[in-house]
Amino acid sequence: MTASTRPYYVPLGSEEQVFATAFRRGLPVLLKGPTGCGKTRFVEAMAFDLARPLVTVACHDDLTTADLVGRFLLRGGETTWVDGPLTTAVRHGAICYLDEIVEARQDTTVVLHPLADHRRQLPIDRLGVTLDAAPGFCLVVSYNPGYQSVLKDLKDSTRQRMVAIELGFPPPDVEEKIVAHESGVDQHSAALLVQIGQAIRRLDTAGLREVASTRVLVAAGHLVAEGLDLRQAARAAVAGPLSDDPLVTRGLFEMIDAYLGGDGGPD
Ligand code: ADP
Repeated sequence: MTASTRPYYVPLGSEEQVFATAFRRGLPVLLKGPTGCGKTRFVEAMAFDLARPLVTVACHDDLTTADLVGRFLLRGGETTWVDGPLTTAVRHGAICYLDEIVEARQDTTVVLHPLADHRRQLPIDRLGVTLDAAPGFCLVVSYNPGYQSVLKDLKDSTRQRMVAIELGFPPPDVEEKIVAHESGVDQHSAALLVQIGQAIRRLDTAGLREVASTRVLVAAGHLVAEGLDLRQAARAAVAGPLSDDPLVTRGLFEMIDAYLGGDGGPD
């Protein structure tokens, strides 16, 4: 898929330059950062800038090598080979973005090694062929460093060839701009939502599944832009998704109320 206009992405540092440079040298990219901090959006913007199609795969623990590479399917009484997303990207010189790579099983990630190193090749055992990656092919994998335990699945020799780019949450003024742009909410409400997000990020995160990401703040912004008051929006889109523990949730609600003061609408 190639976007017709540049996906909106506000850079946080030199990540665009680092990515473009790695791309020109055919080096794979390792994107690190918490969920909802803009990794996917960043790759979409880079694919646009570099004029490459983008193939995205959301990894999960049931993902098999065949899901990535392809399989024979029975169609109208005939067996035909159907390329998986990785093979499609290799053939067409696309950027292949494997989102949350650490979710994938080790036998799945093994297929990435010859693609990620100097060979840039994809062996397809079932077809008995080895494909050379077309020019422009670029492997991008992302993971959330909070879940580092599973990272043993990526071989060190593969990791060491990757160019690491670390993304975090944007500074408050930039995040306000992003929330307002993405949701259409007014600047004042965007600023309040970002303040709440910042406060949650400063908490000891025990009991929270994740900290408040830019994504949840954008979601809250959407609710406000649609007419919900700030308090309800922050409760539903920020606090709700972060915890199932009633005590923690109550604490988050109180924090939201404290930040909104009289600004949030009725209780
Ligand atoms: P990730 O892939 O890290 O989980 P996403 O790329 O899906 O996160 O980001 C979630 C949302 O946050 C995006 O859809 C976008 O609305 C917003 N966002 C986060 N960071 C940025 C940024 N730097 N520029 C523009 N939008 C951003």
